[in-house]
Amino acid sequence: LSQLFRPLDMLGWVYRTIRQGVIDMGAMFDLLDTGAEVKDAADAQPLAVQQGHVRFEGVQFGYDADRQILKGIDLDIPAGATVAVVGPSGAGKSTLARLMYRFYDVTGGRITIDGQDIREVTQTSLRAAIGIVPQDTVLFNETIGYNIAYGREGATPEQIAEAVRGASIAGFIQALPDGLDTRVGERGLKLSGGEKQRVAIARTLVKNPPILILDEATSALDSRTEADIQATLESIEQGRTTIVIAHRLSTVVHADRIIVLEAGRVVEQGTHAELLREGGIYAEMWARQAQEREEGEAPVAE
Ligand code: ADP
Ligand code: MG
Repeated sequence: LSQLFRPLDMLGWVYRTIRQGVIDMGAMFDLLDTGAEVKDAADAQPLAVQQGHVRFEGVQFGYDADRQILKGIDLDIPAGATVAVVGPSGAGKSTLARLMYRFYDVTGGRITIDGQDIREVTQTSLRAAIGIVPQDTVLFNETIGYNIAYGREGATPEQIAEAVRGASIAGFIQALPDGLDTRVGERGLKLSGGEKQRVAIARTLVKNPPILILDEATSALDSRTEADIQATLESIEQGRTTIVIAHRLSTVVHADRIIVLEAGRVVEQGTHAELLREGGIYAEMWARQAQEREEGEAPVAE
């Protein structure tokens, strides 16, 4: 009988997850095993990450044949650099992340990591090299320890402890009745948005990927919690090639380069200072958000 119920449990989980709008791309992918969208090439080799140099070359993409979303994107992200992608909702920012993780294949151009076209490497090796911290993290109805270790198969207690420190949640976990063995979720502890994001950060640290994608990782948080987490995020970006997708520009000031994406095209790029000097779209967005900050808790207009 329990055999019969398992698929139903699964469906329930999927339903709740989708209903809450909380989708951890990696988790969804693994759990649903919907790798059907893209297939490994017959002669696919494991990705060999040397430095983590990411390039988008004339990338075009549309979810449907009759509507192009990305209209020729060129991005060169040097190994270890942090590049931010900003722009209005619907511009195609998350689509860039989905293409990198190869949920879909580009319809024109290519994406390479250290010179290797990501369509020519195994998906397992590609996804092992990329860590994603999404806006809303799915926590399993399991212990905190399980949720953190989920980042890597066979994670050791030492690796977990290190990740917990790196994500600055050691104190929080120590204060729990059963520490890492405390259950979270429906039948356990309810975590705040900020605590959940720190668990997600710890999960990513356990995975220790050379390439990191933060997709609006803090935009569900109030600005105080966001400011709290910002330093942690900046520290985990060190030594990794990072793409930061952000709505609040205060979280991208530190980026080596900022890309402004609008309707599937790169319309401006430069450092924060350069873009302010240019006085274009970015400068305008910055002025608007600065004013909102002054007026108090700015509602995020997503
Ligand atoms: P952003 O992250 O910049 O807000 P997205 O990359 O999520 O934007 O989306 C870009 C465009 O692609 C939007 O118009 C969105 O409606 C569309 N889109 C996103 N996901 C899908 C999908 N799975 N199927 C069809 N269209 C989609
Ligand atoms: Mg998005």
